[in-house]
Amino acid sequence: NQKVVLITGCSSGIGLALAVRFANDEKKRFMVYATMRNLSKSKALVEAAGRSLGRTLEIKQLDVCDENSIKACVDSLPERRVDILISNAGLGLIGPIECQSIEQMKVVMDTNFFGFVRLLKEILPDMKRRKRGHIVVISSVMGIQGMLFNDIYSASKFAVEGFCESLVVQSMRFKINITLIEPGPVITEFEHKVYGEGLKTDLSKADKDTADMFTNIYLKNYREIFESVGQTAEDIAEHTLMIVTMDNPPFRHQTNMLYTPMTTLKYADPSGDLSIDEFYKMVFEHDKVFHASLNFLKLLRWRSRKSFSLEKSK
Ligand code: NAD
Repeated sequence: NQKVVLITGCSSGIGLALAVRFANDEKKRFMVYATMRNLSKSKALVEAAGRSLGRTLEIKQLDVCDENSIKACVDSLPERRVDILISNAGLGLIGPIECQSIEQMKVVMDTNFFGFVRLLKEILPDMKRRKRGHIVVISSVMGIQGMLFNDIYSASKFAVEGFCESLVVQSMRFKINITLIEPGPVITEFEHKVYGEGLKTDLSKADKDTADMFTNIYLKNYREIFESVGQTAEDIAEHTLMIVTMDNPPFRHQTNMLYTPMTTLKYADPSGDLSIDEFYKMVFEHDKVFHASLNFLKLLRWRSRKSFSLEKSK
């Protein structure tokens, strides 16, 4: 009674780590279909998969922006069965919106939001018929809390979260679980892709104040944030494995406890002012507050690592 796991976006980062972690499960509880848009990018996964390839792991083509490719992939699975769907494929976009085209923004929405909806349209009806299944989405803390210069990316993750919140009540009637995994920063290709592109942003369309804010505040600080509080893709895979093996998996799971105080502020104050004021201070009084917060976060990180490893060793 191996569970069939289908994961999207497995050529790099979190998707690759998820595929490898699930396929190498000591108890062989999973048969993993690791999918990617472009099979010519499978080298890293093939190397990392090792002996699991052809046993508990198979690589398949799937482009979340192409309905035919999703259908062909699902049709190729034995009985079209997917017990656990992990929607991971995603793109980031940073910068002032004055410098981004609607076309660029649509690609982000089409991948992060409609990509997930397309997957569900193909897979959800079968899960309903079988009255079982777990839909896991790699969302983000930016799916709960907006972030400076991540307007479109954050909107795409909010869209996914609103969609899931709406669907979950119906899906419970069919014994289908839904879980949103919400990481903070994770050190993957994503960071290099997004910030690599971000550094090339044509700021000529933005006014001087906005351009300065992006270059001298946002871009200057992001590296320090990634380096000091960023998790690894393997950390996220470990959290996801823990979630899918639970009897009653939660609807939301944040992987980085350092962000919980921020998101809790949002839930604590319906006016939204509390969390927005905190963010404002972090960004614009960063010399004082930012470094104090960062040191505090580092301390918390050390403590949460300790308690996570304690939990795991139980
Ligand atoms: P990544 O860039 O390494 O991985 C994203 C993967 O999605 C890539 O392999 C890419 O090829 C794939 N992809 C893009 N468009 C696709 C399409 N149309 N069809 C199929 N695959 C496609 O970055 P990552 O950090 O591993 O990101 C994975 C997920 O985690 C994303 O949804 C991202 O939003 C989310 N996330 C990342 C971070 C972070 O800081 N890295 C934080 C929170 C959430």
